[in-house]
Amino acid sequence: MIQVSRPLIGEEEKNAVLEVLESGMLAQGSKVAIFEKKFASYCGVRYAIATSSGTTALHTALLAHNIGNGDEVITTPFTFIASSNAIIYVGARPIFVDIDIDTFNMDVSKIEAAITHKTKAILPIHLFGLAVNMDAVMEIARKHSLLVIEDACQAHGAEYKGRRVGSFGTGCFSFYPTKNMTSGEGGMITTDNPEIAERSRMIRQHGMKVRYYHEDLGFNFRMTDVHAAIGLAQLTKLENFNSRRIMNAEYYSNNLRNVKIPSVPEGYRHVFNQYTIRVPLELRDGLLEKLKENDICSDVYYPIPIHKQKIYLDLGYDVYLPQSELASREVLSLPIHPRINEIDLKKVIEVVNEFCK
Ligand SMILES: *Cc1c(COP(=O)(O)O)cnc(C)c1O
Repeated sequence: MIQVSRPLIGEEEKNAVLEVLESGMLAQGSKVAIFEKKFASYCGVRYAIATSSGTTALHTALLAHNIGNGDEVITTPFTFIASSNAIIYVGARPIFVDIDIDTFNMDVSKIEAAITHKTKAILPIHLFGLAVNMDAVMEIARKHSLLVIEDACQAHGAEYKGRRVGSFGTGCFSFYPTKNMTSGEGGMITTDNPEIAERSRMIRQHGMKVRYYHEDLGFNFRMTDVHAAIGLAQLTKLENFNSRRIMNAEYYSNNLRNVKIPSVPEGYRHVFNQYTIRVPLELRDGLLEKLKENDICSDVYYPIPIHKQKIYLDLGYDVYLPQSELASREVLSLPIHPRINEIDLKKVIEVVNEFCK
């Protein structure tokens, strides 16, 4: 069976975990501190703050920027639910703008029309490993004095004009096993702003800077040293993983016919957390079944845009976002992870080309 995603764990990760277990220091400690330092340097920022997940990284980042009750945050609905649930957690309201279906990312030409006197931030999502047009986002943010929080949970190492994501606004990353690198569970906030870094560290740890002096309402969003040890080992391999994903994507894109292949605009480094094609909607589910019959797992990310999810309908959302809704009916993500070999890729291509001819 060719799996749609599968982490690549080696001796380095196993030994690193054993070392932590034998040290007896399991909770957030020195491994987390080293992981933060190395991840900050990888992203080209001054500070990184590790958390228990990508979701808690987003939640913490929003709180660190004082986003809360009555505030609006502009984002997109074609993503994993955590991107916008984090906004709900802090009492703010996600305002959904549509995507550009060619990139699956925020249609930046739609941002300004969504700005009101309540807008506090823009939360672009670098979906599937492709950066959002950050020149446009940062320009609009400057013009309207808005904060920018990047959901980079699928985009470790993705670049926009030579600059890594997570270094434009405040970045939020996930290390869930399906991402470009993993720590089991885990997350990271990246920033150049020392105050945001300090506030994030406090929020992660029950609002305390000095042990048992609680200045603010915080949470337990800590990462453990066990997870950090896995993350550290994975970080040394990330560029190798990313280049294999990119090579696999090139192979697909050179050989797939009659489906819409992912676009990689000039000046962007796409790191292909997912390789997502668009298939005529009447063929999509049939192709997924056909691949399964051939022992190939593929998946639909995402079958229901967030504004159509029951919880959001219950919250009163009633918007029509045609590109997001069309994308959810046309997309199919093919196996792209670094464990895939050329034989697997050929097999996938053969089945897709045969079915969509
Ligand atoms: C994975 C993911 C998250 C959440 O990360 P977790 O570590 O699973 O909490 C948020 N946003 C996007 C776009 C993701 O893909």
